[in-house]
Amino acid sequence: MARYVERTKYDWWNTTWKLALFILLIVFSIAVIYPWRGPWWTAVMVVLSLWLYVRLVTQRTAYKCASCGNVFQVPTAVNFFTTSSMGKNPDGTYFSAKNLTCPKCGKITQARVLKRADARVAKGSGRLLK
Ligand SMILES: [Zn+2]
Repeated sequence: MARYVERTKYDWWNTTWKLALFILLIVFSIAVIYPWRGPWWTAVMVVLSLWLYVRLVTQRTAYKCASCGNVFQVPTAVNFFTTSSMGKNPDGTYFSAKNLTCPKCGKITQARVLKRADARVAKGSGRLLK
């Protein structure tokens, strides 16, 4: 069983209600839009819902480069297309991470997910490459 670092207990709740909202939107798309507009519009709505979900998460998170320690934020599009992963701390707990290219050192690292409050260093300079 995976253990999580203390901080993420609250974050899991935060993620859960957003996920619930997202599932609700998908259910809505399928139940209402499918019979009304057909499969294409349903697909569009599902993608839009997913986008909204990623956007909500993106606005509140920042990432810390595992290589140089730089804290940065990424645009929604980048978050949408990059993969999430789990990293293991030296003490055996786990942290959420994302495989991102650091805007400072340019290395592709397993960037640790941070809450935005921890990311005041970023100061909106989080332009990301790819
Ligand atoms: Zn870096």
